[in-house]
Amino acid sequence: MNFKDEIVLVTGSTRGIGREIAQAFAREGAVVVITGRNDEIAQKASAELTAQGCRAEGFGCDVTNFGSVQKTVNKILDKYNRIDILVNNAGITKDNLLLRMSESEWDDVIQVNLRGVFNCTKVITKAMLKAKKGRIINIASIIGITGNAGQANYAASKAGIIGFTKSIAREIASRGITVNAIAPGYIMTDMTAQLKEETRAQILKSIPLGRLGTGKDVAGACLFLASKEANYITGQTIVVDGGMAI
Ligand code: NDP
Repeated sequence: MNFKDEIVLVTGSTRGIGREIAQAFAREGAVVVITGRNDEIAQKASAELTAQGCRAEGFGCDVTNFGSVQKTVNKILDKYNRIDILVNNAGITKDNLLLRMSESEWDDVIQVNLRGVFNCTKVITKAMLKAKKGRIINIASIIGITGNAGQANYAASKAGIIGFTKSIAREIASRGITVNAIAPGYIMTDMTAQLKEETRAQILKSIPLGRLGTGKDVAGACLFLASKEANYITGQTIVVDGGMAI
């Protein structure tokens, strides 16, 4: 797989899975745009990539803010004239059982995980439609398929992403753009670092491949969906969970 000179925007790529995805594309020759809410942190993350000989840009971009997304996309288009690949990765959790879940815990998760995907996809699709070419990859979650006690907000947002993926895939397939989702299982990042040891042990027992996933496992699926080898795949959700939800 080679993504030489492709322009790739990965939302929420200052750390965790997004960062691994950005690094993977950068190593394959792409120009990657690293984003997170904080401009300085995004620039630092992109500088680390450029120090390794890769091509990268870093911008502060809050996916919940349509204006912020528009501004960032305009900066990329001004410089590179196109965006070939969008990875909607930014996401948060605010877990609680339904009866304890506050309205803001519900709203915040839906706002970042689902509204963020709408904002970025809407703005970038416009440019992709003009180019009659593009790849959109949405990072959902296995929880959006199986559900999980204490994560109704997160599960709803991720199930929403899967429905969104199928709908937009149908809307823009005729224009040469594919839209797919990845549903990771438990991946070792800051998001899962707070798991109690006994919960972690329990989760491990439920994973046939016997280990938690890594950002690289998700990045591999992402490169595949963005590659020429996946030309005829759209509207799909690839589960990357070590067999947990078989
Ligand atoms: P992390 O918490 O490690 O990283 C989240 C990233 O999202 C950070 O770069 C953060 O940057 C960014 N972010 C958060 N809010 C916003 C916002 N409003 N606007 C822009 N960027 C934002 O998470 P993971 O790497 O673990 O998760 C990445 C994605 O993968 C998420 O969508 C998550 O739901 C999904 N996923 C993760 C799993 C796991 O086990 N870890 C399993 C299944 C799915 P900053 O703080 O700088 O803004």
